[in-house]
Amino acid sequence: MSYDFDLFVIGAGSGGVRASRFAAGFGAKVAVAESRYLGGTCVNVGCVPKKLMSYAAQYSDEFALSESFGWDAQVNGFNWQTLITHKNREIGRLNDIYGNLLKNSGVTLLEGHAKIVDAHTVEVNGEQHSAAYILLATGGWPQVPDIPGKEYITDSNQVFYLPEQPKRVLVVGGGYIALEFASIFNGLGSQAYLSYRGDLFMRGFDLDIREHVRDIMQEKGVELMFNTQVERIEKGQNSVLTAFFQDGSTLEVDCIFYATGRRPMLDDLGLENVNVQLDKAGLVVVNEHYETSEPSVLAVGDLIEGPQLTPVALAEGMAVARRLFKPEEYRPVDYRDIPTAVFTLPNIATVGLSEEQATAEGYKISVFTSKFRPMKLSFSQQTERIFMKLIVDKSTDKVLGCHMVGPDAGELIQGLAVAIKAGATKAVFDQTIGIHPTAAEEFVTMR
Ligand code: FAD
Ligand code: NDP
Repeated sequence: MSYDFDLFVIGAGSGGVRASRFAAGFGAKVAVAESRYLGGTCVNVGCVPKKLMSYAAQYSDEFALSESFGWDAQVNGFNWQTLITHKNREIGRLNDIYGNLLKNSGVTLLEGHAKIVDAHTVEVNGEQHSAAYILLATGGWPQVPDIPGKEYITDSNQVFYLPEQPKRVLVVGGGYIALEFASIFNGLGSQAYLSYRGDLFMRGFDLDIREHVRDIMQEKGVELMFNTQVERIEKGQNSVLTAFFQDGSTLEVDCIFYATGRRPMLDDLGLENVNVQLDKAGLVVVNEHYETSEPSVLAVGDLIEGPQLTPVALAEGMAVARRLFKPEEYRPVDYRDIPTAVFTLPNIATVGLSEEQATAEGYKISVFTSKFRPMKLSFSQQTERIFMKLIVDKSTDKVLGCHMVGPDAGELIQGLAVAIKAGATKAVFDQTIGIHPTAAEEFVTMR
């Protein structure tokens, strides 16, 4: 049987671009369809613009601190439009780079919505293309609860294009995006409120870390509202939005930003034309080779179960390309000890097991913690502390988990993730000479 393509990828985001480029590099004939933007969520409405906005938000602390080092700097305010214009320009540049990467790898790029016709056929812009394999890499989409006034909600796609900086913003949710944006808005000078439905946000993270972040965010001026649930939203004069909570209280703000999770993007994808099974959460079910229940249709990234992180989608895309077209180089993705950072100010970063997970898994553990004042704050009145924590298996001395809240924690934990992956013991940490004076050295001096 001959097909137009060896591999037809739907979605040119993190997973799709990686799979396309590498499959083409291995000699396969590849097409990728993209309906919105090259680079997908991460480049356009995710990691990249978020991190750029987070950099902007860090300046308020830096300006305040500079005085303590003798600087007499005049700050004349922050301009939202400048930030958004520069961010949009940078994203345009990255979109072009992705286009060139695909072109230079010999991948055929089809701009338009792709729909599956049958197990070997995809339609884009009214034209049908056949392929030996179809890879679904369509990512996710923000999901908000169906409450009265839902139409006034800003979601995580829209937040990157707000025409003006809201003076007061209510962030709803208690996961990555909610915390990152509460920090961003707070740092940029908006009054930020954060409403979370449970006792404490960042469910699944180490409890000490969650409590430490709660205290810092509160100290920095984010108003945290736990055990609250917005029941409805009304729009009043001057576009002021009122959130009505379950306990009868209300809050007036200029923007209500929901970060209440994401659903897989499967809209009008033609899944009814193939035998692709979904789980209860609507995610595409795959086996260890990313094959769906339709053998020629595969899926990677945010639309399958697993951590919704760009490096995970990249690794999965790469694994598919290798297994199909360069099997001698194939190795399965290792999902253990995936490091992650939440770009709050300061960052949260973590790898391995939390204290609660280690205990639940039956380990007998030793716990080492350290809380200290960053040297950079030596001359200031700020009370912020860095927090670090190591979880060690008592029977093998292996470090099971490494957690931190502090400036650049994401940069720092990446290196420790290598150590944990290599099976480092606490004794190895202890034998490692520190780099002085850094915050990082604390990880090798905790006793
Ligand atoms: P995506 O990157 O979402 O790509 C899917 C692509 O498919 C899109 O371009 C879409 O337009 C296209 N598409 C969909 N349907 C069709 C169709 N029918 N036809 C044609 N094209 C279609 N992860 C991190 O690791 N670090 C971070 O700091 C981080 N920050 C984030 C911040 C935010 C606000 C968000 C929302 C996410 C963040 N993530 C972060 C998660 C990360 O962006 C995702 O895990 C990653 O983008 C998933 O890649 P993917 O390939 O599965 O899908
Ligand atoms: P998360 O799954 O991280 O968090 C969703 C939050 O919304 C949870 O606190 C959840 O509460 C809450 N929630 C869910 N439904 C409702 C509801 N109906 N009403 C009120 N609250 C609700 O999703 P995000 O949207 O923050 O981010 C999506 C994913 O994108 C993340 O999980 C992460 O994988 C990825 N991402 C990664 C980043 C990074 O690497 N730095 C940054 C941003 C996103 P509960 O805990 O009680 O269920």
